[in-house]
Amino acid sequence: TYVVSQPCVDLKDRACVDECPVDCIYEGERMLYVHPDECVDCGACEPVCPVEAIYYEDDLPGDQKVYLEVNTTFFDTI
Ligand code: SF4
Repeated sequence: TYVVSQPCVDLKDRACVDECPVDCIYEGERMLYVHPDECVDCGACEPVCPVEAIYYEDDLPGDQKVYLEVNTTFFDTI
């Protein structure tokens, strides 16, 4: 799955939402989240993010790895 990370917090540019072919990027209160079971790993969202907040899960920088769990947990709680 692709993952939205820290630069999205309180920004929510939403460029990625328009790119996603399966509409699996959802809006939360402070950031956007990729649904890990719905994402088809197409990568279309990654280059359009103006703040480079989106990474493939294995490519998350060390200090952003927590966001894999943050994205997954968001969908457990709604
Ligand atoms: Fe959507 Fe593709 Fe990004 Fe997954 S990788 S969130 S399917 S645009």
